[in-house]
This record gives sequence, structure tokens and C-alpha cells, in this order.
Amino acid sequence: MAPSHDDKAVSEVRDGSAAKRPISNILFVIAMQTEASPLVEKFQLTEQPDSVFPEGVSWVRYSGKYNDLNIDIVCPGKDKTLGVDCVGTVSAALLTYASIQALRPDLIINAGTAGGFKAKGASIGDVFLVSDVAFHDRRIPIPVFDLYGVGAREMYSTPNLAKELSLKVCKLSTGDSLDMTPEDEASILANNATVKDMEGAAVAYVADLFKVPAILLKAVTDLIDGEKPTAEEFLQNLASVTSALDQTTTQVVDFISGKCCADL
Ligand code: SAH
Repeated sequence: MAPSHDDKAVSEVRDGSAAKRPISNILFVIAMQTEASPLVEKFQLTEQPDSVFPEGVSWVRYSGKYNDLNIDIVCPGKDKTLGVDCVGTVSAALLTYASIQALRPDLIINAGTAGGFKAKGASIGDVFLVSDVAFHDRRIPIPVFDLYGVGAREMYSTPNLAKELSLKVCKLSTGDSLDMTPEDEASILANNATVKDMEGAAVAYVADLFKVPAILLKAVTDLIDGEKPTAEEFLQNLASVTSALDQTTTQVVDFISGKCCADL
């Protein structure tokens, strides 16, 4: 029997040949509509009404062609009851899983906003390329489960991308709260993170399950160790910082165009 499309994809990942094929399908996973909209416009994508997702979910998909690339942007959409964006790890993981199954991306990009620590060199509007991720709110004080909870993982290495675009590189810590308890803070410190978000490590976990290379780009909307309250600062800077994120993301996509993952 001829190998199925899925068998072929899996064996290509295993033998490394997928990394040497030019990238053609990029999947963006973006938590908030405000973060996604400028990119949807920039890449001239259109919303796909015939969903590849199960019936009834809030997830939204935009797709189209940009240069020689097929680009999909998926968002978790609005909570059916409360009407706000479904931010956080649960929605991000489910959406990433379903999108990998349906769209078979060559590369995943999780682009979004994050809080930054000025003590670690972050400023409002900085866009970071993430080298490592971990969780800061999964405390399981039992040997080995503690490490599982933290879930530290290195991201796919993209030294040429970082160098060519002079991107700042840092570690990211992910948790399901916008604010930060003293326990979270200690864990973020232990994770050596410069930025903190609510989705990155979850997207990275799912991408890693299926061995799809993933790039995380995080733009700083608020300084956690600054003077202003996080929620207020986040909302104040969301629009302007999103436009910085949009610019860097476009440069990243232009750089990727015509390359294979191994060249990144
Ligand atoms: N009040 C906001 C809530 C958004 S939650 C609103 O409705 O507009 C924050 C989102 O931005 C999440 O997707 C998260 O990944 C990111 N984020 C920005 N700053 C953050 C911070 N300081 N801590 C955690 N996540 C942050």
C-alpha cells in the first residue's frame, strides 16, 4: 500500500528532509483579534467561512498567499458567553493542535504581546525572538513532576534569522494570569525570563509534540517591574506595540520566503 500523506509527513520530519524543503505553509497562532488584524490586512488574507475546525468552536482562520508562501492566521476567537478573546494556554493548545492536524504547516509562528522586565533589559515596544520557554504557574512539588510542571523547552534554533534582522533574543515564561503572584515571580526569575505571556509555552508544547518547528515573537506592551498597573499599561500600549510587532513579523516572513527551516 502507498504511504498516506500523514505517514509521509511524519517520516519526512524523522529523517530531517522536511527541514531541507523550501517552506511553503506558515501557520500563525495569534491570541487576540487586535494582534491579528494588522497582519491579516498586511498579507491580504481572507477569513475562511468553510471552517476546517469542528462545528461550534469560536476559532477563526484567515488565509491567503503572500509572495510564494501559503499563510494561515488562526485565532481562538471570542468567548461565546463573555465576548472577549479566548486568551490563555488552554485555547492556544487546542487551536494549535487542531490547526496542525488540518493545515500541516511547515512552520508555526506564535506572534503576540507580552509583559517585560525592565531589570532584564526589556522596554515598551521591544519585539523579542524567544530562545526558550517554560511555565511559571504549574507548581507540582514532587520530584520530577516539578520539572514536568515547569516544562522548560528550547525553541527551534534560528540563528540566521536573529542575526540578519538583528532581533533581540530572550527567554519567555508562560502562565494563565495577566497579573503575577509572588510564587509566579519566583518561578519567572528561576526561568530566567525577560518576557511573560499567556500562550507561548503552550503553543511550543504542541508544536514539539508534532515536531513542527515554531518561532515565537513577543512584543512588550507593559513593564511588570515598572510603575504603572499592568492591565492599564497593556491597554494603553496595545495598538502601538501591535504595529511594531506587525513590522517585525513582516520582516521575518520576508526573510523566510524561499528558504527551508534548516536555513533559518
Ligand atoms: N484586558 C485585556 C486582556 C488581554 S490578556 C484585553 O481584554 O484586551 C493579555 C494578552 O496579552 C494575552 O494574550 C497575553 O499573552 C499577553 N500579555 C501582555 N502582557 C502580559 C503580561 N504582563 N502578562 C501575561 N500576559 C501578557
